[in-house]
Amino acid sequence: MAHLLRGLAANGTVRVVAADTTDLVRDAVARHRATPTAGAALGRTLTGALLLSHVLLKNPQDRVTLRLRGDGPLGGVIADAGLDGIVRGYAHNPAADLPLRDDGKLDVGGVVGKDGDIEVIRAHAPYGDPYASSLELVSGEVGEDIARFLAVSEQIPSAVLLGVYFDAEERVARAGGVVLQALPGAEDGALRLLEANVRAFPSLTSAMERAPLPTLLENELCWGMDFELLTDPGLPLAFACRCSESKALDALAYFTPDEREAMIREDGGAEVVCHWCGERRWIESDAIRGLRAEEVRCPDCGTLWHRESQARMVREGERCSCGRPVRLPN
Ligand SMILES: [Zn+2]
Ligand SMILES: [Zn+2]
Repeated sequence: MAHLLRGLAANGTVRVVAADTTDLVRDAVARHRATPTAGAALGRTLTGALLLSHVLLKNPQDRVTLRLRGDGPLGGVIADAGLDGIVRGYAHNPAADLPLRDDGKLDVGGVVGKDGDIEVIRAHAPYGDPYASSLELVSGEVGEDIARFLAVSEQIPSAVLLGVYFDAEERVARAGGVVLQALPGAEDGALRLLEANVRAFPSLTSAMERAPLPTLLENELCWGMDFELLTDPGLPLAFACRCSESKALDALAYFTPDEREAMIREDGGAEVVCHWCGERRWIESDAIRGLRAEEVRCPDCGTLWHRESQARMVREGERCSCGRPVRLPN
């Protein structure tokens, strides 16, 4: 079961957040039918967003969105996570793939592309403007990019380790991540030891094959630093989405009635795929035709002016894109 651990080291001056995300990354890769290279980028981003939620958020209802947009064939990858342990995310082109690197590893930096930016958005529920900050990418390897973001934008010196390992059957065998942060008051000696421990640490996913995360934290990453585990058992994590049949209908409202009739004629209904989670929903023709009764459209050009149950899209007195003044029923 995917889970997250929190801990402290060096008399509370080093904060540790670690996650075993194997199950949820496997789930996400299958849902999005991602190739191993794209799946590794997605898995690192999902794991990174979960770790960031514990670094940046305070309120249980707040959420963090992590987005990397590089110039590689992936075309961008995004994840949205909260302190409830729920994460969702997708890559724009999950079919993107590249040959293995010379060292035999998946070319995550290549598929993301290093020319672009990393953006972190914090949404404070239930109201308040989302707060976004962005920075250019370092390598597109995700972990390094998050580490630099934390150091530069948040002034939190951090080490970030992220990994997704596929077995010979191209199935996710292990996935996880660790963030180690120096808090105010951390002593130079402790930080030097932490750096040396991180440098000596092999790849996270190969280490996870040998030992569970708490052992790796205590005996390797925080060796000699009095590691203290704060969460036992770990906090459960899962891939889950907030999509629904009614949101799928909302998506169909952006098609004109003629386009929707064409869908019904050709397919007998419509399949709506959620881009966040890959869920496929079949919408019956009756439900599609029922949309008509909720809509007010421009009599000239058919642009959607208003839909029941939704915030007004245009207001009385504004002009439609075709030039006709908008008149809404009360
Ligand atoms: Zn969804
Ligand atoms: Zn119009």
